[in-house]
Amino acid sequence: MSTLRFEALKVSSARKPVKFEELDKKSAIFGSNVFNDKSMRQYLTSDAYQGVKDAVQHGKKIDRKLADYIALGMKEWALSKGVTHYTHWFQPLTGTTAEKHDAFFETSYDGSDPVEKFGGGQLVQQEPDASSFPNGGIRNTFEARGYTAWDPTSPAFIFGTTLCIPTVFVSYTGEALDYKTPLLRALNAIDEAATSVCRYFDKNVKKVTATLGWEQEYFLIDSALANTRPDILMTGRTLLGHTSAKGQQLDDHYFGSIPTRALVYMRELEYECMLLGIPVKTRHNEVAPNQFELAPIFEETNLAVDHNSLLMDVMQKVAERHDFKVLFHEKPFKGVNGSGKHNNWSLATDTGVNLLSPSKTPMSNLQFLTFFINTIKAVNTYEALLRGAIASASNDHRLGANEAPPAIISVFIGEQLTKVLAELEGVSTGKLSPEEKTDLKLNVVGKIPDVLLDNTDRNRTSPFAFTGNKFEFRAVGSSANCANSMTTLNTIVAKQLKEFKVEVDNLIENKDMKKDDAIFNVLREYIKQSKNILFEGDGYSDAWEIEAGKRGLSNFKTTPKALQARVSEQAISLFSEMNVMNHVEVEARYEIELEEYTKRIQIEGRVLGDIARNHVIPTAIRYQNTLIENVRGLKEIFGAEYETIGKEQIVLIREISEHIAGINMKVEEMTEERKKANELGAQESAEAYCDAVRPYFDVIRNHCDKLELLVDDEIWTLTKYRELLFTK
Ligand code: ADP
Ligand code: MG
Repeated sequence: MSTLRFEALKVSSARKPVKFEELDKKSAIFGSNVFNDKSMRQYLTSDAYQGVKDAVQHGKKIDRKLADYIALGMKEWALSKGVTHYTHWFQPLTGTTAEKHDAFFETSYDGSDPVEKFGGGQLVQQEPDASSFPNGGIRNTFEARGYTAWDPTSPAFIFGTTLCIPTVFVSYTGEALDYKTPLLRALNAIDEAATSVCRYFDKNVKKVTATLGWEQEYFLIDSALANTRPDILMTGRTLLGHTSAKGQQLDDHYFGSIPTRALVYMRELEYECMLLGIPVKTRHNEVAPNQFELAPIFEETNLAVDHNSLLMDVMQKVAERHDFKVLFHEKPFKGVNGSGKHNNWSLATDTGVNLLSPSKTPMSNLQFLTFFINTIKAVNTYEALLRGAIASASNDHRLGANEAPPAIISVFIGEQLTKVLAELEGVSTGKLSPEEKTDLKLNVVGKIPDVLLDNTDRNRTSPFAFTGNKFEFRAVGSSANCANSMTTLNTIVAKQLKEFKVEVDNLIENKDMKKDDAIFNVLREYIKQSKNILFEGDGYSDAWEIEAGKRGLSNFKTTPKALQARVSEQAISLFSEMNVMNHVEVEARYEIELEEYTKRIQIEGRVLGDIARNHVIPTAIRYQNTLIENVRGLKEIFGAEYETIGKEQIVLIREISEHIAGINMKVEEMTEERKKANELGAQESAEAYCDAVRPYFDVIRNHCDKLELLVDDEIWTLTKYRELLFTK
């Protein structure tokens, strides 16, 4: 009997929900482990407090002396909560978070004067020994070391007994070595561009903030079971396993009652989130068995991105206490739905207006249309770049692989707004007659219903959908750091708004047009130019792929192809014009992501080869031996008649041999392809892994999955799909 698998099954089926009681109401504990406004007021001098506020709101620098005072207050606060260590918390280009813990504790060399210390220097800047973080050649090029620097716009927090200080990670020559730095620059760019456009409509607007509300999908698998699967442990997904008889076909999991063990896990997770100030709001089952979703109230984008990264960490840590493993992979199981991370995005002014929310007056609706249409135009111009921003080995399993959403970026806006755009398209060129203007304002712009929110058809197949008061970028991978997609989206919209401003100003100054005439004129042209990106139909259909091809939209189904848009001339000039990334930074990210792709496929190939040879083949041979024994026995008893009596067994013996031969041959061939791929340069190597190595996965898997069906369940070593997916 395969002991590991059956031991694990015994353990997992005997599990009871872990005890967990919330001690307080959510509102009472929200943010209590965050150095937020309330604790800053309590622990900082008024100068220090004002210093942080100015840095957050107006990007003012914090000088060293002030930093000392802030650090002092922060330390007192942290010590009052039993904290012993501090760390600069950052997001290197590995996609995860990094931290190195230092104790507050210090003493002089002879051991006298032990004391807890934390000064401005330690708060503001650190030099992690970070030579092993990926840098895409930046540090080789510049012979520079990297350092982390405090980002005061994201508040420090306590996790466990450590004070975590959100930081950027940059090289000494200033190149960003992380995800956060370009994001902060992009948020700056969109603030600047959107604010100046807002001023056409409201002179009081001084700041525009990009908002993000992510929705995180994930699978929860019993940890004992997950631990029996080397593929889950090493790659985050199952590389083989026959689909279980029951999958998601009954639709009985979606929005169904949450299984008790999972529910208690979620309650503790939410409790931890509350302490950390992550405003988690909803939880529910997703489509696939053991798949769930969690979503917070939306926040300022930088904070929301930090919170998502932090959450993914916290989820895994809380899961350990509940004997679960969280799978963030986009496609952990073949044949059941994968996971995504919807990024709900909008723009908000400091006067409290959501710029993507239609409202009651014609003037504010013209403002809404301005931002709405500019966003569509930006996506139209940079669709390939947006696709590149969400490309990864794991997301390739979703995008364009028979599952939502397709690898083609398109925008869904719903029937009503489609009509509004059609009418605006008819606006005459040049100055508008008073009648036309009145008509437009009353009957088109004035009539955009403020009930749009309920009316927008929820087209679930669109990768980028307008959902009433925000756009929802649904193609982002569940395991991704949102910073990448948000940096790109905010940069392209910023660039578009900047261009819009230039065009409108030009019409006002040189063509003697009134402001709203000019806006109508420019928007009309934008609608005409952006039609290709609008699509209301079924994004999964073959017809759409053909249609999108005719429209000239990109359709990159694999990462090595999709990533090329990240280093196109268009991309390099965009990011440098908007001061988000210089060409070195752009190219470095491309290299890192390409290499990451290659490594992932390489690891998958190795793990699959190992499992197929070390688990599947030996098990198959053991079972075959049993059959051979059986046939030999039949021959002994029945003589020549054994061939008839043992016919089925003999067929099985042959079949098993064929699959074993198939596995061996394909694993050999795959290994040869890997060797060849390893000899190539970065781009060619990634493409070879994609086109020459990866296709073996399905063939090898197929043989293994067939054997799973043939071999005695009692001796099969790998935990099966039905056990992984239906153990609650
Ligand atoms: P759904 O039907 O998709 O669940 P909701 O309106 O409940 O729609 O919102 C889904 C997500 O969108 C939530 O995470 C929420 O925080 C986010 N969201 C709502 N409004 C905004 C906004 N203005 N900017 C960014 N995200 C938003
Ligand atoms: Mg949604």
